[in-house]
Amino acid sequence: MRPMPQGSCPTCDMLWQEYAHAAAEHLNLLMEKPTAMKRRDKAGDDRLAVEIANARQKRESARVAIREHEAEVHDSACGRTAGS
Ligand SMILES: [Zn+2]
Repeated sequence: MRPMPQGSCPTCDMLWQEYAHAAAEHLNLLMEKPTAMKRRDKAGDDRLAVEIANARQKRESARVAIREHEAEVHDSACGRTAGS
């Protein structure tokens, strides 16, 4: 997994954007968790747990999508070809 690419492949850009979005959402939910627990809001806490699980799932699929796209389209370890 390479760092955020600055390249010319629109699919990569889209996939990375999706991943970044999903990761941020997951993180936000994780940071909400202590607050929900402090409120002793059981229903809210359960709902948050489900949301966290969903967000993690989404993040994982986004990561898999990047891997698969890179393997399929960019093929090798050196990834996207510069120029040409
Ligand atoms: Zn690509």
